[in-house]
Amino acid sequence: MIKPVRKESIRNLSYYESKSHFYTFGYTLKGWGENDLINLFADRKVLLLNQVHQQKIVSFSDRLFKPEADGIVVSAPFRVAVIKTADCLPLFFFSTSVRLAGIVHCGWRGIVAGIVDNLMKLLESRDKLANIFFILGAAIEWQCYEIKDDVQAEFERKFSKQKATEIIRKNDHKLFLDLKEAVRTILTENKISREQIFNIGSCTYCNPELPSFRRTKSGTDRIYNYIYINE
Ligand SMILES: [Zn+2]
Repeated sequence: MIKPVRKESIRNLSYYESKSHFYTFGYTLKGWGENDLINLFADRKVLLLNQVHQQKIVSFSDRLFKPEADGIVVSAPFRVAVIKTADCLPLFFFSTSVRLAGIVHCGWRGIVAGIVDNLMKLLESRDKLANIFFILGAAIEWQCYEIKDDVQAEFERKFSKQKATEIIRKNDHKLFLDLKEAVRTILTENKISREQIFNIGSCTYCNPELPSFRRTKSGTDRIYNYIYINE
């Protein structure tokens, strides 16, 4: 149910999608633009954000046009929540008990600013956390994500010393950031079990089909990650 399968759209653009009875989520590969995405979902409403690497999460509303935020919660069908990424981690979520789903943009700045903590509070106010499943989308894996000690210091301020050493890995005197482990740490600290967390697992830096900011230094090529409620 969780594993997305490859599909093609009208312009021969490829994307991955997984559909269950209640939810559909997916992500595009190279070559997609905003208009392609809007055409793909011509029969539904699409919400894109002005993403700013902060902690704000908005509820999907027809009145919103590109609000400044980094996460979207949806609770009605046919509304497509979209997060753009190119190495940062898209975190999808959905409830198995009520109509509730969404997606959050998790880069290192957003994680340090508290977007995942913010998501936990928001979800707790809507449902039992035990009913929610999380999907770690395609992102840069730690082996490819070298950072400097300024970023390490930010994580050491946010997490315990022990946790910080699991999130920032040392290898050959270099520092590497594990975005997925950072998110997993916050989820499990909120009593989300490992069985509720799925990992799609493709590295944006290694997979040439996926846009990667670090690999191409392109300011425009992005993965469009989306989720919506089917009915
Ligand atoms: Zn890689």
